[in-house]
Amino acid sequence: MSHITPFTPLLIGGSRTLSRTKSLIEDATSTVSKLVWGDGTKRDERYYIPDGNTVILVENVLFKVHRSTLTSDSSVFGTSLPPPKSSKNPSPPGESDENPFVLGGETPENFRTLLWALYALYESNSSCPKLVACSLERTEVSPQDIAVLYAPGADLDMITRIASGAHKYNFVKLDSWAADLLTSKLRERAKPENASSRFDFLLTLDYAVVSRKAQLKDEVVRIIKELVADDDIDYARVISFGGGRDHQATWQKVLGMVYYHYTIQGPRRWDRDRTRLSERARTLLFVAFARLVDMRKSEIVWEHTCGNEKGCAARLQRHLEAQIYVGSPADFASWVRCIPTQSFVVVSHSCIGRGVAALKERARVLEEPWDFFASLQW
Ligand SMILES: [Zn+2]
Repeated sequence: MSHITPFTPLLIGGSRTLSRTKSLIEDATSTVSKLVWGDGTKRDERYYIPDGNTVILVENVLFKVHRSTLTSDSSVFGTSLPPPKSSKNPSPPGESDENPFVLGGETPENFRTLLWALYALYESNSSCPKLVACSLERTEVSPQDIAVLYAPGADLDMITRIASGAHKYNFVKLDSWAADLLTSKLRERAKPENASSRFDFLLTLDYAVVSRKAQLKDEVVRIIKELVADDDIDYARVISFGGGRDHQATWQKVLGMVYYHYTIQGPRRWDRDRTRLSERARTLLFVAFARLVDMRKSEIVWEHTCGNEKGCAARLQRHLEAQIYVGSPADFASWVRCIPTQSFVVVSHSCIGRGVAALKERARVLEEPWDFFASLQW
């Protein structure tokens, strides 16, 4: 899927003359007559609508749709599509298969999904998206199709594609409708039940961040947090997907969380994913692991009021060594949480209590681990 950002040039309009040569092929294997040009260009089976009036080429697929549908809801098509045919301009791009309007930076799959939503949800000139299939006779959308999006177990990836497409082309109401639907769907899910019923939460998060949908963003981050806590997430994929987005605060939060939990798994775990991790990510994991292990051993400095700095520090050291901790040697945050603060040693020696507080302060930084990872040399 193309990276969606409001700053990407959205439309590359223009014309392209297709040479309808003798190689026009009738595909006999299909019940639908497929027209395939010599260069592989073909008509979309669903959204080459005979009474449409605007031909759009996406990669090698021709769509024929209604200009009024594409330009609804203040979309960018309203200003990007060339004016309709006139005596001044008898053949503007978009008026025929041979002279289509070329839509760059798009895939046929995503454009088809967007059209599905536009035809299913919009009534011409309606002030808001309605659950009314306005063009049932023109397309194959049925009210049942729309109901599927509201049903439990709806295809959240599809709703994300609709939302992303709507945002990309500025279908304002469709964008907001799809974001609200996604948000409520995610709230309904206490926990992702199993892998097969999962959606691609990274694409949804990407959309939420780019389109500034705060509530949706919070829901996706909550789900990622749960998956991380259950060690039920593909860390390597998150790192590779989020890597180019780490200038954004939300991705920093997610990446910090993921990097921390991945780091503490240790080298054997990363080795399983080595082909999917960049050199930079692998280096960071090794450096972070070593640094976190060292954190436990490094000297704890605090202001002593006991008059016996050396003896006091040694006593705290013995106290820490006596505690039972079975987690990863690199999981400094969990290790600190396990320090028994109600013990006689800590309670009866207020100076040692301050030493424990100093350790907790050191662990506090790891509550938002991105800063720790960003501070490492990488
Ligand atoms: Zn002391």
